[in-house]
Amino acid sequence: MDSLTQIPKIGPKTLSKLDKLGILTPLDLLYHFPSRYIDFSHITNIINTKENENTTITGRLVSFQNIFTRSHKNIQKAIVADKTGQINLIWFNQPYLSKNFIVGETYSFAGAVSLFQNKKTLISPVSGQYNTGKIIAIYPETSGLTSNWFRKTIQNQLQTLLSNVNDTLPKNILEKYQLLDLKKSLKQIHNPLNSNILSQARYRLAIEEILSLQTQSFLSKKDWLTKRPKIFLKNNLKINQKIKRLISNLPFKLTDSQQKVWQEVESDITNTDKVTNRLIQGDVGSGKTIIALLSCYLTHLNKSLSLFIAPTEILAQQHFQTFTKILNKNKVPIFLLTGSNKINLNKIPPNSIIIATHAAIYQKDYLKDKVALLIIDEQHKFGVKQRSFLASLDLIPHCLTMTATPIPRTISLTLLGNLDISVIDTLPNNRLPIKTFLVPSFKISQCYSWIQSQILETKCQAFIVCPFIDVSETMASVKSAKAEFEKLTTIFSKLKLSLLHGKIKPKDRETIISDFQKNKTNILVTTPIIEVGVDIPNASIMIIQSADRFGLSQLHQLRGRVGRGALQSFCYLFTESINNKAQNRLNFMEKNSNGLKIAEYDLKTRGPGEMFSTIQHGFPSLKLASFSDTKLISLSQKILLDLVIDKKFNLNSLIPKHISKDNIISN
Ligand code: ADP
Ligand code: MG
Repeated sequence: MDSLTQIPKIGPKTLSKLDKLGILTPLDLLYHFPSRYIDFSHITNIINTKENENTTITGRLVSFQNIFTRSHKNIQKAIVADKTGQINLIWFNQPYLSKNFIVGETYSFAGAVSLFQNKKTLISPVSGQYNTGKIIAIYPETSGLTSNWFRKTIQNQLQTLLSNVNDTLPKNILEKYQLLDLKKSLKQIHNPLNSNILSQARYRLAIEEILSLQTQSFLSKKDWLTKRPKIFLKNNLKINQKIKRLISNLPFKLTDSQQKVWQEVESDITNTDKVTNRLIQGDVGSGKTIIALLSCYLTHLNKSLSLFIAPTEILAQQHFQTFTKILNKNKVPIFLLTGSNKINLNKIPPNSIIIATHAAIYQKDYLKDKVALLIIDEQHKFGVKQRSFLASLDLIPHCLTMTATPIPRTISLTLLGNLDISVIDTLPNNRLPIKTFLVPSFKISQCYSWIQSQILETKCQAFIVCPFIDVSETMASVKSAKAEFEKLTTIFSKLKLSLLHGKIKPKDRETIISDFQKNKTNILVTTPIIEVGVDIPNASIMIIQSADRFGLSQLHQLRGRVGRGALQSFCYLFTESINNKAQNRLNFMEKNSNGLKIAEYDLKTRGPGEMFSTIQHGFPSLKLASFSDTKLISLSQKILLDLVIDKKFNLNSLIPKHISKDNIISN
C-alpha cells in the first residue's frame, strides 16, 4: 500500500484531518503510536463488577432510550443483563447510538464502573470487537478522528500496513539484546495482547527511535570526515611563539580547562586532514570568548580570514571591544559587521578578523570562498534559516560553535554524535558562587532598599530583568517594561537607572550598555535580551522578576550575567507564584549553581523542550523514548557500535522513512 486513499473510507476530508496530525502516508499511520492504554481485558459477570474498575461485560440489551432533557441536551440510557444480574449504561449526546443497537441482541461493553443514581453504571462505555475484552489503545486525536476511529482503521489494516515492514535490525542483534522483532512490536503497540508484551514492544520501538537519531549523527559525522579543508591553517614554531606570547600577556592566566580546550581546538583547526566541526561547551562565565580569540589570532597569523558570529549586536559589539583591546598591540585588522555597521568587505585585508551578527549573511557572496575559520557564538540563538546559510557556504570552513547550554550525556550521545565536543568544565578561580535567594512578594521592598544601600556603599551595579519572557518583544511588553522602569526610578531615587529593550535603536543601545559598562549608570533595567553573553564584571546584583515564568536553564543563563568578577554576587528571584512545583524549581535554583545539574533537573521535570528551546530550534520530539533515559540511550549506543563493525550491515536502513531528516543537528 503506498497511499492512504487505498484504505477504505478514507476520502479527502479524512485525509486533511490526518494531515493535521502529520499523517501523510500509510507508514505514518502505522507509526502513529497510542499515547496511553486502557485495560479492558478483565471480563466479568455483571454481578462481579466492582466500582472504579475497568471491565468488559457481555449481555442482552434489555432496553435502550434516547432521552432529551429540558436544557436541549440528550442522554442515552440502556440496561444490559446477563445470567448474574443487570447493569445500567449511560452516554451523553450520542443519539446516533440508537442505530447501533437492537434491543434483545447480545453485546459486549467495556468501561469503568461507577455508581450513578446509586446504581452500578458504565458511563460512556465502548463496544464491539475493537474495544472490548482487551487492552485498548488511546491515540493522539484531532477533531473528527477519535481513538475509536484509529483503533478500527489501524486494526483492520494492520496486516497490509505491516506487509511492507522489514526488520531494521539483524537477527543476531535481536537475540543478543533480547528484543522483540519489529513487526511484532508494531502489531503489539496498536493491539496489545497483554501488558507484558506491550512493554516489550514499546521498549523495542523506543530503542528504534533513539538508534535512528544516533545513526543519523553517526552518518553525518562520517560524511563530514570525508571533507578536506580548502584553506590549510598551520602551526609552525613562529606562530606558536606568537600565540604563547599573547597568552602570557593576557590580563589573566588561562584556567586548566581553557588550556585543555585550546589545545584540542588548536590541533583540530591545524589538522590538514579534516575539517573542524567542534562544539565548545562551557557554563556561563567559563571564558569561551578567549578560545574564540586565540583561534581567530591563529587564523590571522596564517594570513587567512576568520569570521566570528554573535547572535546580537550588543554581543558583537562587546566581542569587538574585547578583541580590539587584546589584539590591538599586535596590529591585527579587526572589523565589526552588523546591521547598523556595514563595511565594505572588498577593502579589508585577507588576514582580518570579522566580528559580525547574522548581517554577514548578506555578504555571503564575498565570504563564501574566503573564510578559513567560522565561529558561531551562542549557537542556539540562531534560527534555522541563519544556520542553513552557514551550511550553504561553498567553501566549508573550519567550524567552531559555542554554547553555554550544558549538554546532558544522553543528548550528546543521541544527537550530537556528529560533532566533536570540548568542554570548559571549570570557572576561573577568582569567582565566588553567586548567592541566590527566592524573594516572596512581601519581602520585595525590603530587598529593594538593601540593594540601594549596597550599591551606594560598594559602587557595584545591578541588573533588573523585567517580567516578560517573550523574546520577540512586542509593543505591549515594551510598554510594561517602561511602566516598570518608571516605578523603579522612584523606588531607587538615589540611583541612576537606564532601560534596555529590543525596540531601542542599536546605536542607542550601544550607548546605554557602554554607559553601564563605565559605571555611569547604577542599574540596568532590561528585558531578557541581556541573557546571552553580556559581560560586565562590576555588575554583581541581579533581580529576576516573575522568575517562575522562566525555564531553569534560562534563569541560569540570566543569572550568569553576574558573578563574572571577583565580587560577591547576589541573585534575587522574585515570584508571586505559590504553586508548589514552581517553588520547588526555584528552590533548586537557590541551591544549585552547576549548569549541567540544572539542565538535567529541567530535563527531568519539564522535558527537553524546555531546556532545548535554549539550545536548539527544531529539537526532535520523541514518541516513546525519553532523553532522560540513560539506560536506554547507552544500550542503543552499544547496539549502534555493534552494527558499525558489522561490515555487511547497511546503516542507512536504520533511518526510517517516516522520520524527518530535520532531526539532525548540524551547523
Ligand atoms: P563565557 O564563557 O560566558 O562566554 P566570557 O568569555 O565572556 O565567558 O568570560 C567571562 C569573563 O571572565 C570575562 O570578563 C573574561 O575576561 C573573564 N575571564 C575569562 N577567562 C578568565 C580566566 N582564566 N581568569 C579570570 N578571568 C577570566
Ligand atoms: Mg560568551
